[in-house]
Amino acid sequence: MAPKQLHVAIVASPGIGHLLPVLLLGNRLVTHHNLRVTVLSVITTDTSSAVYDLLTSFTTNTTLSVIRIPAANISSIVHPDAKVVTRLCVMMRETIPAIRESIWSMDSHPHVLIADIFSNESWVIAEELGIPKYAFVTGSAWFTALFAYSPVLDKQVVGQYVDLDEALEIPGCKSVRPEDVVDPMLYRDDETYGVYLAQAIDVTLADGMLINTWEDLEPQSLDALRNNPILRSVVKHKPVYTVGPISKPYEPTVLKNEVIEWLDKQPKRSVIYVSFGSGGTISVEQMNELMFGLEMSRQRFVWVVRPPSGKGSDSSFFKGGQPSGPDGPCGYLSEGFLARTVKVGLVVPSWAPQPEILNHPSVAGFLTHCGWNSTLESITSGVPMIAWPLYAEQKLNATMLAEELKVAVRPEVLPTKKVVGREEVARMVTDLVEGENGKAMKVKVMRLKEDAEKAISENGSSYISICKFIEDCLSQIQ
Ligand code: UDP
Repeated sequence: MAPKQLHVAIVASPGIGHLLPVLLLGNRLVTHHNLRVTVLSVITTDTSSAVYDLLTSFTTNTTLSVIRIPAANISSIVHPDAKVVTRLCVMMRETIPAIRESIWSMDSHPHVLIADIFSNESWVIAEELGIPKYAFVTGSAWFTALFAYSPVLDKQVVGQYVDLDEALEIPGCKSVRPEDVVDPMLYRDDETYGVYLAQAIDVTLADGMLINTWEDLEPQSLDALRNNPILRSVVKHKPVYTVGPISKPYEPTVLKNEVIEWLDKQPKRSVIYVSFGSGGTISVEQMNELMFGLEMSRQRFVWVVRPPSGKGSDSSFFKGGQPSGPDGPCGYLSEGFLARTVKVGLVVPSWAPQPEILNHPSVAGFLTHCGWNSTLESITSGVPMIAWPLYAEQKLNATMLAEELKVAVRPEVLPTKKVVGREEVARMVTDLVEGENGKAMKVKVMRLKEDAEKAISENGSSYISICKFIEDCLSQIQ
């Protein structure tokens, strides 16, 4: 018999880039589709105050149930210097018993389990309960296609992907330039490559995939995932649902914030917002060039800074949003910069209210690391971008934004390969804020914003896709 109210459990791995879309998806299922949703959020000892604030705001302001699950201690299993992907996967695997206990002790068991792609192993719990299991991909459909097809590429490609002369063909999709592959594919002998391939195989074991995108944004990749015979067999003919854009809605607030108050005083469409997501870091040398480039551009800016790192561009992943170190926000910026730019710039340590900033009328552009959430937030705010990818699948996102959607400019060389010089920074910033190219990109991004609003409105493509997902769940549990 069909349940009176479908109860969905969603498992979220640590990291705001996964947790935020899980909470937003859960909230949408509750408010627009009348489901009961329980989010199981895995928390590490490094979890930042920003994540705690986020969890509290969802627990207080929505009817979502949120359960915090302390991550297993993996210090004796994984070296502390192991890459983020490896640590995340091992941590999630070791935390399965705690997730299981939490699910089994619920007053009524969920009817469906959804897991983000780092939480795939929790499907074993769905199997024990005899309930359907779904993957929630918090990236694009193009990324999903590359991800699912990676085990096939692994057999076809000889040597390192990055050494290839030709682009990688993904059936039915735009091909992927070797330098744009996701980080774990960069070096096949690296520990993360095997972890990534195992995840890619696991994702196709789900009963279906929910992707944070919408039909008009990625028609080609979505069509390939559903209809291309090769790709369809790779994803084992499982349904693909579009649920996006799941990006944090702008909520006008009377509670003022220092950044918003500063933006209120700036002319309309005059400010460039610079931020590398929840965990992105850049080198000392790059920070210097970016700093002088912003100054040389003579444009207004808000820059969310965190200490530079020589350890890799995702080295703040687990600590994203943590306050700055003892030197304060400016200890690592060159002397005099803050004084010289005091009239045009605002430097914010570590964390800022991004959706509110992007929706502010004074913001003209976003210099972004192209995390998928930041990308969608910029599009849904109608803000063109400077694409500055750092890690994960961000190079793929940058290529889509700059070459396909034409709503971003980007440096001539990949920032992960070479330091972007101050002249180029200044040129890109000025072009975005004042140039003809900036105006053309603004027109294009406004069109995407309208498409996005249509997709999630009642009877829009993503709304209908979620209804279909619910229908398919119900048909499996009757
Ligand atoms: N974010 C924020 N303030 C910051 C930095 C990041 O609110 O100062 C939010 C941002 O709005 C986005 C998320 O953190 O929703 C980052 O996700 P994304 O996928 O862009 O990048 P990741 O941090 O996962 O690399």
